Amino acid sequence: MSARDEACVFRCALDDTYFVAVTGTVELKQFRGKQGKAAYDERNAARQLALPPWELLRCPSCVELCSNQSYEAWLRDCDRETARTPLSPCFAVSFEEGEPPPMFVDRKNKPGGKPKYELASGVGPGGLEIDGSYSGRIWKPSLKLVGIDRPRYEQQQQPGTQRSAEEHAAMQSAAETALCRLAPPEAEALARKLEAACPAYATWAAASGGVGAVVDKAVARVQAEAEACDEAKAREGERLAAVEKANRKARKEKKRAAKLKGQEQ
Ligand SMILES: [Zn+2]
Repeated sequence: MSARDEACVFRCALDDTYFVAVTGTVELKQFRGKQGKAAYDERNAARQLALPPWELLRCPSCVELCSNQSYEAWLRDCDRETARTPLSPCFAVSFEEGEPPPMFVDRKNKPGGKPKYELASGVGPGGLEIDGSYSGRIWKPSLKLVGIDRPRYEQQQQPGTQRSAEEHAAMQSAAETALCRLAPPEAEALARKLEAACPAYATWAAASGGVGAVVDKAVARVQAEAEACDEAKAREGERLAAVEKANRKARKEKKRAAKLKGQEQ
């Protein structure tokens, strides 16, 4: 084993899933000895601070909820050319207020084996317990030690309000569309709203101002803007065509005038 995966814990705002996402790799042998250790710590601290607060990531639970398949089956069966990978708003997790999200390094010694994430930098659990879904999802009860003790959102936990995969896919896709296409400050504000409503799937259509209405409004607006932009492009195309036509006519007339002048002489 040479380069090792580095990772951070992310939390999906839609379903309150905690999972590990690889953020880079590191050659640990480059950081040997006292000086090496200091350089490693400095490098890691800088990387912790450089991490964006939220990102659109492939959340394993969203994949499962939207496809109605286990993550493993989805990976195996999905047609990589055509399958849509749901990307959900996920927040880098800090386990202590005011501290940047900690970084972990995969210390497994067998290639292809189950990852063995250990804390490399920052404040957080010493290790992470990954569940058996081959997705990097953290076994949530193991996070009780760090004060996270709510079960994650699952369809069957909402008796009487069970939703289909299509319904989850519609919510997920609306959130993704809005976050991809809004201007960065607006996307940031919307992501924060989804985070505050986490798990947003559960609070989507809440009677007292569900977050779904906010997302749908944003989607309608970006779509209207895209249509207006297409119309403006079409109008500009027409204008340029008219200019070109007029130019052609002018060139022709100039030529004809020059020809007549030549005949007169
Ligand atoms: Zn999710």
